[in-house]
Amino acid sequence: MKEYIQKLQEEHSLTKEEFAALVSCRDESVYDFARQQAVKTRRRIYGQDVYIRGLIEISSYCKNDCYYCGIRRSNKKASRYRLTHSQILDCCREGYNLGFRTFVLQGGEDSHFTDQTLTAIIRDVKAGYPDCAVTLSLGERSRESYEKLYAAGADRYLLRHETASEEHYQRLHPKGLSLKNRKECLWNLKEIGFQTGAGFMVGSPGQTAECLADDLLFLRELSPQMVGVGPFLRHQDTPFADQPDGSLEMTLFLLSLIRLLLPKALLPATTALSALHPDGRKLGILAGCNVVMPNLSPAAVRKKYLLYDHKPATGLEAAESIDLLKKQMKEIGCQVVCDRGDYPAADF
Ligand code: SAM
Repeated sequence: MKEYIQKLQEEHSLTKEEFAALVSCRDESVYDFARQQAVKTRRRIYGQDVYIRGLIEISSYCKNDCYYCGIRRSNKKASRYRLTHSQILDCCREGYNLGFRTFVLQGGEDSHFTDQTLTAIIRDVKAGYPDCAVTLSLGERSRESYEKLYAAGADRYLLRHETASEEHYQRLHPKGLSLKNRKECLWNLKEIGFQTGAGFMVGSPGQTAECLADDLLFLRELSPQMVGVGPFLRHQDTPFADQPDGSLEMTLFLLSLIRLLLPKALLPATTALSALHPDGRKLGILAGCNVVMPNLSPAAVRKKYLLYDHKPATGLEAAESIDLLKKQMKEIGCQVVCDRGDYPAADF
């Protein structure tokens, strides 16, 4: 398996069969080797730098009904909230003062957030904080809508493809949602000029080695600037309540492989990784990640944006704990950088 890792490092791709064999591997020494090579690659490109993004969860309303997600439409127990224009600007102000230079506006697919509402928010954030990047993560919208959001000043868009296998996509989503549309959104976002993020959950119900191989091949084809990958974690009020959580080791292994596949990628150590293990963030960075996304949402709503059980909502996940985060990163030879942290233009 180590030859495959070396090949991935040199050629930045493998065949579907090779990827499937690699992700079927359960050998710790192979995971260690992948981790070492991934960290070497991250260091070559980014040195010691780790970027921070302030995550603002703007709405827990969602018109979709994804089987895995705690804020799915059919979850009648979910507490719903949406932030107002001025609450979002307050979060940005607080984040700016803490040192954040990227704001990620994430939420369910909430029809309250029309193009008009969103463009007004984006314009105000950009006017107030011209040295900051605005990232959106608001699901599937029309090409025209994405164009308007880009024209208003949004810089980046995160839209995990969730799974690149047609059959698996159907297992995770109800009728009406399709992989075809999800992929089309991603290609549109890229073409419009957004720095684009794709990604998937590790260990989602029904995921096979072939699914993961398809995911890696799709990432190679799309070559997004950002990749969001975290473990699947069950939520008690979803149809997947009894499914096992994704594994920490597999998630870290996949993150290392993605660093080798897309060396320049902006790769966050996700909140879900921290939910799975108290040192999730550190472990993510030590597997090749270079981004962390502390939570800037108002404290009162953090527990309402519950995608999965046991989501961390205080402590190290909170943006206010930035000093602790800096200390934690220093302990593993990294430094938190307070700039926009754009995708590097140079080839490495
Ligand atoms: N609505 C937007 C979208 O569809 O992209 C953004 C919000 S959505 C809740 C953000 C991401 O959360 C999804 O892309 C999904 O991968 C992740 N997520 C949802 N439920 C999860 C779960 N149970 N475990 C881990 N991640 C989950």
